[in-house]
Amino acid sequence: MEACDETIKELSSIYDEESMDTFVSLYFDGKDNKFIYRREEAVMAILKGEELENFLKTMEEIKRFLGKKFAGNVAIFASHKHGYLKVVDIPVKTKNALIVDSSPYIRPLAELTDTWESFTLVLLNTNHARIFSVSCSRIAEKKRLSAYIMNKHKKGGWSQARFQRLRKGSIHAFFVEVMEELEKYASENIIIAGPGQAKHEFKSILPKRLQEKVVDIIDVDIEDEHGLFKESMAVMAEKEMEEKRDTMQYLKKEILRDGLGVCGVDEVVEASRNGQIELLLIEKGYKLRGWICENCQAVGKGTAKDCPYCHGKTSEVDVIEEIIEFAERTDAKVEFISSDEIKNLGHVVALLRYK
Ligand SMILES: [Zn+2]
Repeated sequence: MEACDETIKELSSIYDEESMDTFVSLYFDGKDNKFIYRREEAVMAILKGEELENFLKTMEEIKRFLGKKFAGNVAIFASHKHGYLKVVDIPVKTKNALIVDSSPYIRPLAELTDTWESFTLVLLNTNHARIFSVSCSRIAEKKRLSAYIMNKHKKGGWSQARFQRLRKGSIHAFFVEVMEELEKYASENIIIAGPGQAKHEFKSILPKRLQEKVVDIIDVDIEDEHGLFKESMAVMAEKEMEEKRDTMQYLKKEILRDGLGVCGVDEVVEASRNGQIELLLIEKGYKLRGWICENCQAVGKGTAKDCPYCHGKTSEVDVIEEIIEFAERTDAKVEFISSDEIKNLGHVVALLRYK
């Protein structure tokens, strides 16, 4: 499982059991400090008593953290009351937001990380290899290998044939060594890259189970890491898009034959509360004003002064955020897509585990 997914799952599983506004979620570009002060003022004008006290202490902790570190784009989820502070570095520009609620606000993070499927990258030629692990759009070098391989052109007294045989043998031995390392780090997706023929030869010696994971082979200079990272991210994004289009087609069929597909907010809310969702597809950027019952956790569209089921106190929420949280808690895969299809299907579509 990816680090991103784990983080989101952890965040989705925590909430204040007394339904108090104790969690601060801050998405911050690291620049506009005025934004934080402005939101602080607004929140301080609304909260009272214990909640206000907790907010002030939580903000102190957040600011202490921000002061320590040169902040780029970051998401911080914190609650003094729960002794909780989680920081997620975000490699792309984020929209500033400071939200106070009874649980962490994970929607923007879920949308951002949706396109970052993890993969393993092998950059190699005949005598150098580097293995990278890319997760949450962060790149980590796992291993660097090199071997002494004889020059392409023979020297000394060996016959050409003997020389070529030896050279081939030592390249093969080097590839086997790289493969053994790759086995340790390989994720579900592998990209092989490098100049010339080496990358193709390397792929051909991989066992079938690894070959099947190879998403693409990229021709690139051995020194051009930067270009390679860029290109491989694009390859993965394209793969992701294709998979989403396939998923959408599959879901449409399931809905048509009244199978395991459901669409529209009401049905999807119901399914998410029952833990039935295997996969959730959401229209990118779509929000829907609604309410949640602080007593029985029922969720509905529009406004409700008190809960129609138990008459408990309600608070205003984004229904889509609640669906995401329910789904994440039960291990569903959550994805975002922009298309007219999903709009027409009521902005949210889900594949059920059972019916
Ligand atoms: Zn209720």
